[in-house]
Amino acid sequence: MRFLLDNPTFAMACRQFDQAADLLELPRALRERTKWPKRMVAVAVPVRMDSGEVSVFNGYRVQHHLSLGPTKGGIRYAPGVDLGEVSALAMWMSWKCALMGLPFGGAKGGVACDPQMLSRRECEALTRRYTQELISFIGSRSDIPAPDLGTDEQIMAWMMDTYSNHAGYAVPEIVTGKPVSIGGSLGRREATGRGVAFLVNRAVEMGKLASPVRVIVQGFGNVGSHAALELARTGASIVGVSDRTGAVYRSGGIDLAGLQQHVARQGGVRGFPEAEPIDDREILLQPCDVLIPAAVERVITEDIARKVQCRILAEGANGPTTPEADEVLAERPEIFVLPDILCNAGGVVVSYFEWVQDLQSFFWSEREVYDALNRMLTDALAKILKRAEREKVSTRMAALMIGIERVAAAKKLRGLFP
Ligand code: NAD
Repeated sequence: MRFLLDNPTFAMACRQFDQAADLLELPRALRERTKWPKRMVAVAVPVRMDSGEVSVFNGYRVQHHLSLGPTKGGIRYAPGVDLGEVSALAMWMSWKCALMGLPFGGAKGGVACDPQMLSRRECEALTRRYTQELISFIGSRSDIPAPDLGTDEQIMAWMMDTYSNHAGYAVPEIVTGKPVSIGGSLGRREATGRGVAFLVNRAVEMGKLASPVRVIVQGFGNVGSHAALELARTGASIVGVSDRTGAVYRSGGIDLAGLQQHVARQGGVRGFPEAEPIDDREILLQPCDVLIPAAVERVITEDIARKVQCRILAEGANGPTTPEADEVLAERPEIFVLPDILCNAGGVVVSYFEWVQDLQSFFWSEREVYDALNRMLTDALAKILKRAEREKVSTRMAALMIGIERVAAAKKLRGLFP
């Protein structure tokens, strides 16, 4: 299996796992069973393009472990997607679901494509064919997809429709992150970003820094924009924002409503006239209280970790910080890290609520959704802080240890089959 997964992000996820497994003193056999993805599929996705030509895209879905319930995880549309990247993301989903006490294993999927270059019709055709190829692999009791980088509610609606046409009746519980009008949950769209903001505000209340708070956000998509909007609503000043088109900075605070209008018109933050352009890398190094990487993996490298000037690193993205950078951060106790599997867990927690609502055909108010989410995030943060203090480890290691321990315990209890 190893040769299939030759990818730097997978190597990073394995390194994190090995460190936590060493600390947990997991026996060799249990460690191997807990680490490797249970099932992986790769599919060819042929699409007739608007030009009349047929292009074949590579699609993947990985189910990391099946010991605690169905698997759960997003679908990513991005040019660099491969089996190793998807497997790393599935592994992190396992630890995240276990940390949050959800009855799920981790999964992830994706198609190697540039969604910006697809027309709406091409994107729909690709989504429907990818879903069709996965029909026998996914299911509302076995594996439930959701949105991730490059995918959104519309794509989930097409997935749900394709699956439902195959079943012969509506199966809303096959995906989460759908539009509310076809069985989505109130609050799901904003849940990941609002969860990030909630945890940042909890950290401020705990005295990790004094308000008012200056924030820099990398990535202004679903997670980054909702985190920024919620933090601005609760009194923070968003001084820098970047995305794949560029970066903008304004020390007095950026007008987010204006920036959103600009992004809707221009497709990115670049050229926003009411802030200064700045280099993509430099923006991460500007003085701020909270730095939120909310785009892609491995952006907080060893070098960046030495130079960042934040007090809270709130990981909206999955895997934004390399293990080498973690070693640097260990030497910088003034920086409080909200690790990814906690910080962005709002998304999967509200996806869980959406799945439960769909199965029961009984829908909650937004207030109920956020009361339950905030309670679960508060509990998970408290558990991590307690574990980090007890074991003298970083918040990331504490979070991973709690998640991995739960998965390993389930495997041990259920035993080997046959
Ligand atoms: P998205 O597609 O909505 O937005 C991604 C944003 O990142 C866009 O603004 C894009 O321009 C920007 N971006 C892409 N590459 C970049 C780069 N190299 N440098 C700077 N900016 C870049 O995606 P999203 O759903 O917001 O996901 C962002 C991250 O959050 C991913 O790591 C994803 O796995 C993670 N995440 C998402 C959810 C969710 O509910 N959507 C949940 C948990 C974690």
